[in-house]
Amino acid sequence: MKISMVSEHASPLAALGGVDAGGQNVHVAALSSNLARRGHQVTVYTRRDDPDLPAKVPVEHGLTVVHIDAGPAKHIPKDDLLPFMSQLADGICQDWGENVPDVVHAHFWMSGLAALQAAGRAQGSGKVPVVQTFHALGAVKRRHQGAADTSPAARAWLEPWVGRTADWIVATCPDEVFELKALGINPAKVSIAPCGVDLELFNGKSDDGASARVAYDGKACSGTGSRPRKHRILIVGRLVPRKGVDLVIQSLPLLAEAGFEDVELLIVGGSGDALALDEDPEVQRLRAIARDLGVADQVTMLGQVPRGAMPGIFRSADVVACTPWYEPFGIVPLEAMACGVPVVAAAVGGLRETVVDHRTGLHVPPRDPEAIAAAVQELLADPVLRAEMGRAGMRRARSRYSWDRVAADTEKAYRSVLAASRRAGDSYEPLEGVVL
Ligand code: UDP
Repeated sequence: MKISMVSEHASPLAALGGVDAGGQNVHVAALSSNLARRGHQVTVYTRRDDPDLPAKVPVEHGLTVVHIDAGPAKHIPKDDLLPFMSQLADGICQDWGENVPDVVHAHFWMSGLAALQAAGRAQGSGKVPVVQTFHALGAVKRRHQGAADTSPAARAWLEPWVGRTADWIVATCPDEVFELKALGINPAKVSIAPCGVDLELFNGKSDDGASARVAYDGKACSGTGSRPRKHRILIVGRLVPRKGVDLVIQSLPLLAEAGFEDVELLIVGGSGDALALDEDPEVQRLRAIARDLGVADQVTMLGQVPRGAMPGIFRSADVVACTPWYEPFGIVPLEAMACGVPVVAAAVGGLRETVVDHRTGLHVPPRDPEAIAAAVQELLADPVLRAEMGRAGMRRARSRYSWDRVAADTEKAYRSVLAASRRAGDSYEPLEGVVL
């Protein structure tokens, strides 16, 4: 199959950990690569955010990344990209020429707009079915972030429109299917393919956890005194308030009261540049919380860590904490499980599915530092339980979340949508109603 992926802000080639570079980048990169390995021809279209990027980057056999000029060639926050989606659609159409793909798979709602426009314009060359994966939904974001949500107001109606208009939706977890239904999207055209985990990279085989501790202790960008501690809690992710890093910091004094004061909280994510990390308002906010609670010397902020170093960091931890307010899917818990580390997970969104309570980790209610402290305490007190949960996590990650399996499920969705569109011989409604 000839497959076009559209991922407006999340390039598969970007460094991870910044405000807008995380799970979607990993997802698009791994899914595309695994589809290419299954014999498909995959092109990923993403916005050029740096003038020096080449037009086309051949990544591996069957996989190319194409940078499209859509708005200024610099980083623009993802929520400000809406005005450039028409241009992105133009660039995609231009690259297709007469040679349209069999299917176009859009990631994030704005990419859906560009994909639907491009597919609509290409109708002369035959219908191109559009498959949509949202990765995050505005309705959920608004519910949790309220006025702090920086999404454009038009998302409230454009996102459901994308869902209703696309030929097929690939959701990442059952929770998302309920949310899609609430947006008026027909569940009959929704299938589930979760995010996956790179099992070659993330595994519990090698025992380099101890050396990872030595290598990274002292590199602390936060400048805190990171003397070796008996226990390590790890957080990995983009440093944005909704990830709930502050809740884990708030759990540290409670852990100390319970006799667990020799504990380090290692935080990975944010900028790769120490100076920029220092200037990040979210980093400053988290440090202030740690200072006020008298636990600053227990908190180490590493900033962005390259992909290859991540498995060692995971294995260096006793517990990985994932305590967001909400989480569309969450790849980090899968990576922790694949590395054999138990996860303390807020029981929200995709985490309810990936982390099995009392099997591969412990669920806690969202926004509850006391519950986090209790769960971490339970795990730190019991090395046998940790090891058992770690092994169960590895088994679960291997049996359910390989990218090859995710790619196979996604391929199935492409094949059924192709068959359906051939049967119907349908074409798109005109898109004039949608003004970008
Ligand atoms: N990540 C990384 N280095 C960092 C910070 C994050 O490689 O410094 C990766 C992390 O390992 C995971 C992804 O970024 O693969 C975050 O994905 P997740 O789905 O957990 O969160 P999202 O970014 O989608 O909110």
